Amino acid sequence: MNKETPEVLISEEEIQARVLALAAEISSDYRDADELVMVGVLKGSFIFLADLSRRLSIPRTIEFIAVSSYGNGSISSGAVRLVMDVRGNIEGKHVLIVEDIVDTGHTIKYLTGMMKSHRPASVKTAALVRKAESAEVDVTIDYLGFDIGDEWVVGYGLDFAEQYRTLPYIGFVKPTD
Ligand code: 5GP
Repeated sequence: MNKETPEVLISEEEIQARVLALAAEISSDYRDADELVMVGVLKGSFIFLADLSRRLSIPRTIEFIAVSSYGNGSISSGAVRLVMDVRGNIEGKHVLIVEDIVDTGHTIKYLTGMMKSHRPASVKTAALVRKAESAEVDVTIDYLGFDIGDEWVVGYGLDFAEQYRTLPYIGFVKPTD
C-alpha cells in the first residue's frame, strides 16, 4: 500500500464551490421535471453523488450502476462491461449519469447508450473531472467540474489500488505499474 500523502491538485474548498454551482445549474435546468434520477457509477462517484444530490433543490432519486473495464492497471482498454444495472424503472424519466472522472470517454459513452436502452425521457451526464487531452471518443459532459491534465488522480471518491477514496480533495500520486 502506498502511504504517501497525495499532493493537492483541487482543494476541498474549490470542489465544494464547484459542486454548489453545478447543483444550482442542474436544479434550474430540471425545475419543471417531476423527478431527476441520478445514476452514480460505482465506486468512484459515491462522494460526488452524495454531495451533488444533497445540494439540489428539485425532486431526485438515486440509482447506482457498476462497470468493469477489460484490462487492468491504470490503462483504459476501451472495452466496458456492465456488472450492475439500475434496479428501479427509469423508462420515461429524466436520467443524469454521475461519473467521477472521464478519461478516454469510452465508459461514459457506453453508459449513455446503456441508459438510453431503458427508454428514459432524457439522458445527461455529469462528471467531476475530465482529462481533456486523453479523449478518444467524442462525448458531451453536460455538467463538468474541472478539466485536468493526464495524470492519475485520487481522492473525493477516486482511488489508487482502493486507497485514498475518502480524501476530501483531489490529489495525485505516481502510479507504480
Ligand atoms: P474512460 O473510459 O473514460 O477511459 O475511463 C473512465 C474510468 O477510468 C473512470 O471511471 C475511472 O474508473 C478510471 N480512471 C481514469 N483516470 C483515472 C484517474 O486518474 N484516477 C482514478 N482513480 N481513476 C481513473
